[in-house]
Amino acid sequence: MDYEDKIKNTIEAGKVAKQIRDSLKIKVGDKYSNICEKLENKMSELGCEYAFPVNISVNEITAHDTASLKDDRIITEKDLVKVDIGVHKNGFIADGAVTFDMTGEYGHLMDASKEALENAISIVKAGVDTSRIGAEIERTVKKRGLKVIENLTGHGLDQYIIHSDPIIPNYETQKGTILQEGDIIAIEPFVTSGDMEGHVTEMDRCEIFSASSFEPTRNKDARKMMEKIVNERRTMPFAERHYVKKPTDKIAILELIRNGSLIAYPVLKEKSGGMVAQFEHTIIVGKDAAELVF
Ligand code: MN
Ligand code: MN
Repeated sequence: MDYEDKIKNTIEAGKVAKQIRDSLKIKVGDKYSNICEKLENKMSELGCEYAFPVNISVNEITAHDTASLKDDRIITEKDLVKVDIGVHKNGFIADGAVTFDMTGEYGHLMDASKEALENAISIVKAGVDTSRIGAEIERTVKKRGLKVIENLTGHGLDQYIIHSDPIIPNYETQKGTILQEGDIIAIEPFVTSGDMEGHVTEMDRCEIFSASSFEPTRNKDARKMMEKIVNERRTMPFAERHYVKKPTDKIAILELIRNGSLIAYPVLKEKSGGMVAQFEHTIIVGKDAAELVF
């Protein structure tokens, strides 16, 4: 695929993602499983596919949470809900996130994340150092007495690859990367309160996986499962609920995790229990400005 195709497919994925996000409503009482299923089905109906399972990360849970196999969790009136949506067309990805506040108490976190994202996008063009983008995000968030999550970053997007170079930091770094015209990047400032650590740590729970290399196993179900996953997902993430339809499927997945055929992405939470807001856009780096994809 050439450059034109890459841009065309990314913009198409972005249109679908935008349509889904714009009609998205999160209400108290909504089931996580219904939200994920509905959004992912809509992507297919609109001619695309999920680039990663719809992430629903609530309160101090910051990323990588999604509906589990038999998930009875519902959205409550105490929840700050981050919905992260990834849509792909022929492997070209639009990645974006929005936060919904069920409590009415966290507008300041959401405003800071939104403003940091807007300010960051406003300085994006070919030749800009990613460190400057990080500095702009950090400055915007600090000015409000709040903190960014330092160990989560934006990223480049490549065909079938959700996190590629360059890293887009959420704070000023020593050494960055110079953005090139045509780079496709996602910027995503995660914001928490000023008195929190501003770091995420892995939880024991893991809902999201992707194929690594096919490692040998004597379990025939596991071999068949890996083949199916690689065929359908290539290097893109999936959730257990997408592949476990019967008990032997669950055993097959466990075997593929055990033997290192699958990469696990544990659920991430803010270390000190801080509430976290996140907004994210995917953009194309232009000669003089950024073009919004999603
Ligand atoms: Mn995302
Ligand atoms: Mn992202």
